[in-house]
Amino acid sequence: MKEIIPLLLISLITVSCGGASDISMTATTPTTTTPTTTSPAVTTTTPTTTSPAVTTTTPTTTSPAVTTTTPTTTSPAVTTTETINTSPSNHSKIDLINLSATPTSDLTNWANFASDKMSERTSNILVVTYNIGEYIGEEIPGMPFNTNEVILSQSEIDLIMAQIEQWLINDPCMSKQRGHRNEELESYRFWLENGADTSTHRGLCEETRLVMMAWKDGMETWNLQRFLIHELYHAFQRDIANEYCNDTIERMGRGEHAHAVVEGAADYFTFFTADEMYTDADRQNYDQIGYRSPLNNLFIDALDLINEDGTNDVTGSGIATRAAIMVRLMVEKGWLSHESILDGSFHHNCERADLNPSNPDFVFAWENWFQFENQNGEWRFLDSVLNN
Ligand SMILES: [Zn+2]
Repeated sequence: MKEIIPLLLISLITVSCGGASDISMTATTPTTTTPTTTSPAVTTTTPTTTSPAVTTTTPTTTSPAVTTTTPTTTSPAVTTTETINTSPSNHSKIDLINLSATPTSDLTNWANFASDKMSERTSNILVVTYNIGEYIGEEIPGMPFNTNEVILSQSEIDLIMAQIEQWLINDPCMSKQRGHRNEELESYRFWLENGADTSTHRGLCEETRLVMMAWKDGMETWNLQRFLIHELYHAFQRDIANEYCNDTIERMGRGEHAHAVVEGAADYFTFFTADEMYTDADRQNYDQIGYRSPLNNLFIDALDLINEDGTNDVTGSGIATRAAIMVRLMVEKGWLSHESILDGSFHHNCERADLNPSNPDFVFAWENWFQFENQNGEWRFLDSVLNN
């Protein structure tokens, strides 16, 4: 049985850095109170009522309970939305525009959990989430997305667009880039209006990040947690939108390795972090999780991918998971720090530039990542690889 869920709710995710709890962070964040609109109350209270910044409650319709068979035709009364108060001094907010059926409180809690792992966050992040319907399959130009049945109404899309635009206008960096802003907005609208199965992080500015993700309602919780955490980690990867770092990597000959490192780190973080979030029910319900360690699950998923397309290339299907194993091999060889991936500090000073084809250690990991086997129920790298 599903609860009635708010169809549209924008809320602030509490800022959390350096492992501080939400509450203590809340206390230290400058208080900016904005009058809330007197829009119709949503059916659930937002989880972040103690949060300092604004929780913009947008007018919503109550979406039909999932169990109801008669579709309601009520579309949301779109009225002016409250401006999200993005204080320029507050550089580490995560805002969420959620039009999916997944409760905002869940998404908020998961995002906070992941954010708490970071040793230092500096970006403003906007996360936009929505559901899509049945697969249609036409390609979205220039992006690795396909079209799907559009679940959102036109007025909901317009509302999301207005909110994203407002967020960008309030952003210290994007506010100054009208052309860039409009280009991005045009893409987002196109994706929304075509039911794109988005799963993307946009490094709009070094400290301005946007995550857009779509999924079919009913996706398993553990899978959705992984999805969100992976995309969020990209937003936490500070150096991936750093011009100097990207230029450095470019000069060394940007190849697929640069992409693999970014994806591998994101999935490495995801497997370890999401594993902490799974409940016993998750573990019982979904074989994919099982009762083993996150590392073991990572090996199993990577093996599935190898079997899927029959290639040992890091760049094969599911590059992120394959590359996460490559990251793991470097960790076990002592070339990378597990902690620095998990707290994001690996991405503070462009360390990833060292992972390139002229680095023999990296080349070794690139060429040997798939050399693992099952020993007494536990997956691990071959001794020959570890002792090489
Ligand atoms: Zn990714």
